Amino acid sequence: MGVEARRTITKTRRKTRDLDQIKADLLSPKHLQQYKDTKATEDLPALGQHYCIECAKWFESETNLVQHTRGKPHKRKVKELRDDPYTQKEAEAAVGLRTDNKGPAMARVAAERPFDQEMEMAT
Ligand SMILES: [Zn+2]
Repeated sequence: MGVEARRTITKTRRKTRDLDQIKADLLSPKHLQQYKDTKATEDLPALGQHYCIECAKWFESETNLVQHTRGKPHKRKVKELRDDPYTQKEAEAAVGLRTDNKGPAMARVAAERPFDQEMEMAT
């Protein structure tokens, strides 16, 4: 009866946008609009008029939204957003793979053989 993968539902039900997506939303209204366009306006609380960008949440009324921006979850989110997003570079640094191509020798090699590098990227 019902959905078999119950675990999947409980784990993703409260899923909102990822931090890097929200960052992009804050930087570009167009990006945000693209996300909002994926939701049907009539399904959103108060037809999607009251939206907290940081938390990617809709609210029933202006009052609720204002109350929310004073709350702890919102402030926590804003703080999280102030940190830099997790990058591939950090991930590599964590396992000891450091990109150290600032030396003159490496720069020269790269300048001499730009095509080799592109080939590697493609495969
Ligand atoms: Zn919020």
